Amino acid sequence: MPPDLALETHGLVKSFNGTRAVDGVDLAVAKGEIVGFLGPNGAGKTTVMNIVTGLLKPDAGEVILLGEREGYRRPEVRSRIGCLQEKPRIYPDMTAREYLGFFANLYGVDGGGERIGEVLERVSLAQDADRPLSTFSRGMQQRACLARTLLHRPEFMVLDEPTLGLDPNGVAEMRRIFRELRDEGLTLLFSSHQLDEMERVCDSVVFLRDGQVVAAGRKDDILPATEDAGLLHVELLEEVEPHLDRVRALDAVRKAERSGANTLAIEPALPEGTPIRDRRGAVSRALAAGGLTVLSVTGARMSLEELFLVLTGTAGANLGTKDG
Ligand code: ATP
Repeated sequence: MPPDLALETHGLVKSFNGTRAVDGVDLAVAKGEIVGFLGPNGAGKTTVMNIVTGLLKPDAGEVILLGEREGYRRPEVRSRIGCLQEKPRIYPDMTAREYLGFFANLYGVDGGGERIGEVLERVSLAQDADRPLSTFSRGMQQRACLARTLLHRPEFMVLDEPTLGLDPNGVAEMRRIFRELRDEGLTLLFSSHQLDEMERVCDSVVFLRDGQVVAAGRKDDILPATEDAGLLHVELLEEVEPHLDRVRALDAVRKAERSGANTLAIEPALPEGTPIRDRRGAVSRALAAGGLTVLSVTGARMSLEELFLVLTGTAGANLGTKDG
């Protein structure tokens, strides 16, 4: 059964001064997931997010938000989403509690005082609630902004670079909060350039380049699929150096490089898309037939960062991308 979706977009297009910033974007965001929105500068991430939350009108295409076509136009749907923009505004003279009280009034949040206490707790600011925001670190200020967007109990959150400018502790704290929110049933779509962070926290990823989706899917499907496109790591009983030319001459081997005294990286000479097990088997057999003792052959899974580099144009690979 297809997953219950928090967000669907079909064929989104948006141009600025005749240039297409968003060029036919289809998204499907499953409920209860953390989805990472990735792409180089200018790929169109912010523009898509602004369309999704209704801040920008697309030239073409449609947005189905929480099951409602053009849901962002309807107050009852808008009230179920939260949005944290790239540079949220804070009021430095207000304490965290006053800041949240101001927005709780503005949004007409039920049970204001109690709810403020809950969200402060949620973002680990309960102890600092009565200090002015000007005395907060950048990470604490960002958490106060996140608390603001949680006040009205959204089901779906869109966050544009929420960890920008935070130190590693600040990023780790955000990661913990995102996971807890996800575990409470919230869906989060957020953009970031911190790929190691994305790899740790996201359930799914969407890669955007030049306004188009170049790959999308669950991280647990996308990253293992890269094994089929990558190199094999081989460990031999013998020292590699004296045998390297012989290994390179094998029919099953396209390239081989020594990576340690007894280890080497091999690119097999097999058709693109050959499953990882078959690649490992073919290389293992060829080395054994060449008189070598193979201790292990393993596939190399790409990190999100490596995959990003491949998808943004530095190398070609068969990664089960959207078009492939
Ligand atoms: P970054 O990672 O740098 O935030 P991004 O992926 O969020 O980039 P967008 O901000 O959506 O990318 O921008 C996509 C393209 O659209 C860029 O070329 C940008 O210059 C252009 N663009 C975005 N907003 C406007 C605007 N209001 N007017 C004109 N051009 C715009």
